Amino acid sequence: MNATDSETLVVGGGIAGCAAALEAARAGGDVVLATKAARPEETNSYWAQGGIAVTRSDPETFRADIIEAGAGACDPDAVETLVSEARPAVEDILIETLDVPFDTDGDEFDYGREAAHSESRILHVDAATGAAILPRFLAYLDEETDVTVREETTALDLVTHEGRVHGALLEQDGAVSVHFAGGTVLATGGIGAAYDRTTNPDSATGDGIAMGALAGADVADMEYVQFHPTALDTALVGSDGDRDGDESDDTGTFLLSEAVRGEGGVLRNGDGERFMPEIHPDGSLAPRDVVAGAVASERERTGAVRLDVSEVAFDASFPGLAKRCRERGVDPEDGIPVAPAEHFCCGGLAADMDGRTSLGRLFAAGECARTGVHGANRLASTSLLEGLVVGRRAGRQAVGVEPEAVEVSEPRDSDPDLPARFASEKADRLRRTMTEYVGLERTSDGLARAATSIRRLKGEVDAYTRTRTSRELYELRNATVTALLVVRAATENDESRGCHHRSDTEVQYAD
Ligand SMILES: Cc1cc2nc3c(=O)[nH]c(=O)nc-3n(C[C@H](O)[C@H](O)[C@H](O)COP(=O)(O)OP(=O)(O)OC[C@H]3O[C@@H](n4cnc5c(N)ncnc54)[C@H](O)[C@@H]3O)c2cc1C
Repeated sequence: MNATDSETLVVGGGIAGCAAALEAARAGGDVVLATKAARPEETNSYWAQGGIAVTRSDPETFRADIIEAGAGACDPDAVETLVSEARPAVEDILIETLDVPFDTDGDEFDYGREAAHSESRILHVDAATGAAILPRFLAYLDEETDVTVREETTALDLVTHEGRVHGALLEQDGAVSVHFAGGTVLATGGIGAAYDRTTNPDSATGDGIAMGALAGADVADMEYVQFHPTALDTALVGSDGDRDGDESDDTGTFLLSEAVRGEGGVLRNGDGERFMPEIHPDGSLAPRDVVAGAVASERERTGAVRLDVSEVAFDASFPGLAKRCRERGVDPEDGIPVAPAEHFCCGGLAADMDGRTSLGRLFAAGECARTGVHGANRLASTSLLEGLVVGRRAGRQAVGVEPEAVEVSEPRDSDPDLPARFASEKADRLRRTMTEYVGLERTSDGLARAATSIRRLKGEVDAYTRTRTSRELYELRNATVTALLVVRAATENDESRGCHHRSDTEVQYAD
């Protein structure tokens, strides 16, 4: 069997994976970074708009804002580490190493402010911060370090032996091989592909969470799926086709950052009325879960919700968004139709702030990890930060152990005969089910229906994975496994808190 090895294997080329690979290489490790993406656009990190939050004068207010947004479910020690390492990590990697051109105002950085932040503390590059960071980061790893970056290389499963992880099965160009590693870092991003409307690219199929869970790692907080209130309402502008992140073929939804509301954008219902001031004292800048719920119900009641940008210098401040709106036939002056969309998974593989999971030699960082910093609801602009801080720390831990070649059953090469429509039909069914029953509002009946339907679907997918190997099939398996983890956690937790709403119970978190 074909086998390769390295001291450290990082799976994922978003901000968390890049930070882990950089730091592992700096610590002297021999590092391979495998990413299934062909382009930076196939990551959540690339699409980050608002920016990355850092500590300013008083770390206590930053800590308090994160904990308040997390609705009492954050781990205070994890938050403490995130806040105290925010500025050093950003200065070291983003400013000194990558020279990211954050916007300035005179000699100072131009710190932005988003919902539920009590001060302006967000570093940004226009409203396209991820696009300014990620291509630079990947290029730096490739050109300036000894990290081996393997693009279009998909991890299919982890290699385990006696409770430890020893690397992963990797697929590249249809060939499957084993990669043994002393330390394996999963940094595979989000789960948005399990929902009809998401801000994530199609490839966000929860691979790391599923692979880790199937290998026996603990997961936590999976019921806390954050829906962003303002994604383009594709139902009102035409097709909601693919979301592969290719702007030239852009028919899917996209995010209209909170920063637009921070600059004065307001939400109006189909009757032209502002509805947020009656619902929350912060109006359109209320916490995300509150705004998302209100947008969903006003959209249902009045047929549409629009983001009114008449008081915003929209073209000047958000040129990329203005361009994308016009490309989709939306004149921002008329108000931009918006609807909630799956945006971020607060849960994931249970990990400490060094990325350590419950399995030996397995680390997790970024959106696929649950470190406790986000609790039941993530504060805006803290996930790039979490990826950077935890990725950096995990990279340091994942070195120093030689790879061991353990026994692995012979992997099958990719099967080109997979019925072309099989994976896409099943993925459609999964998305419909998750959107209908496991969205903003959940009930025990709806969750039970979702569990039955997704279990049946998983059975059909498993029957195929026993005999065939293909990236699409494994992504589908991973999306169904991850969806079942969300359904199970949402069923077991009858308390509405943060971004988990159970409309059939009275149990409500109150701080
Ligand atoms: C539209 C949008 C706007 C956002 N805005 C902000 C913001 O302003 N500020 C902020 O802090 N956060 C923001 N977020 C959230 C933030 O971008 C993400 O949570 C964060 O970037 C996740 O980083 P990551 O490295 O964990 O994952 P990602 O950036 O998604 O990277 C995952 C990587 O793993 C690879 N991968 C996945 N599965 C496999 C596999 N099986 N084998 C090999 N490779 C695999 C992918 O190809 C990709 O390279 C936004 C998210 C979106 C979608």
